[in-house]
Amino acid sequence: MNKPELYDRVLGGLFGQALGDAYAMPAYLHPRDTRENYGEWVEEFYPGPPGHPAHDGLKAGQVTDDTEQAFSLADMIIKDGKVTVSGAARALVNWYESIDGDNSPYVGPSSRRACQALREGADPTTTGNQGDTDGGAMRISPVGLIHPGDPVKAVTDAALACTPSHNTRVAISGSAAVAGAIARAMIPGSTLEEVVQTGIHSASQGEEYGNTWLGASVPRRIELAVKLASSDKDVYNRILDLYDLIGSTLATSETVPCAFGILVLSAGDIMTCAKYSAAVSGDADTVGAIACAIAGAWNGFAKFPADAIQTLEKVNSQFDFRGVAEGLTEIALRNLK
Ligand SMILES: [Mg+2]
Repeated sequence: MNKPELYDRVLGGLFGQALGDAYAMPAYLHPRDTRENYGEWVEEFYPGPPGHPAHDGLKAGQVTDDTEQAFSLADMIIKDGKVTVSGAARALVNWYESIDGDNSPYVGPSSRRACQALREGADPTTTGNQGDTDGGAMRISPVGLIHPGDPVKAVTDAALACTPSHNTRVAISGSAAVAGAIARAMIPGSTLEEVVQTGIHSASQGEEYGNTWLGASVPRRIELAVKLASSDKDVYNRILDLYDLIGSTLATSETVPCAFGILVLSAGDIMTCAKYSAAVSGDADTVGAIACAIAGAWNGFAKFPADAIQTLEKVNSQFDFRGVAEGLTEIALRNLK
């Protein structure tokens, strides 16, 4: 792969992350309520709905903690030239302080616990020992983007990136699924089925890491989500099946499989993936961030609609999408050799 090809997919992954996050951010906690408020499908960026426990007050097109943390992690990877536990810990604390985490409603339970301990000087190899929610997976996309065609390395680095806040078998398995799928999606000519199968395989490899903790099997539940997404029901009923039978709560073993289901249901089309992520509701922004980061790396930046990119860059002007993509591409090129 030459540098422009690689850059296109890295930038696609970053914008996919932001698109899915921002597009699904206004979703309600149940698909019925999302449909009642926005009509059959969410067809544009909307602001956070009044009364939403985490997103009330956010602007149309604004990303949430998923993308904020992914960028914070990406900055640290670029600075260190690789993924390290201490870098992941610094990234997390930098993010937490930048959003005044102590007073913010949208810090997830594992990240909050870890950040508070890290700020008191705790060892980052211990602060994630109970982190089982989806915060590890929601920010992991940069780790996949720097390992084009090398899902095995993406999995070992996903485990390092999860250690400070999500050092449990289930959380690392979910993060490994996403990082591994993205690593595969970076290779031109990969089919969506190959990307999903790599995700399942990477989720199994991820189970070798982290503390033993309670949690359903991520790889087996990705298989189940793909099956539900491929049934002969109409699209909306397949989305309801994902919500009812897989779930889209903060649990890693729900969100990550649900995101793979949405990816399959949308056939990897980037805007359809964002729309279906909003429709599935629950922790929809995280489902969207994960599904669309994979779809974005698979499609490449050139396939994104210009108006969506314009909105994302304008509303989230604190992020230098192109500069970060450039930095990650340099590392990806080094890792290719
Ligand atoms: Mg979020």
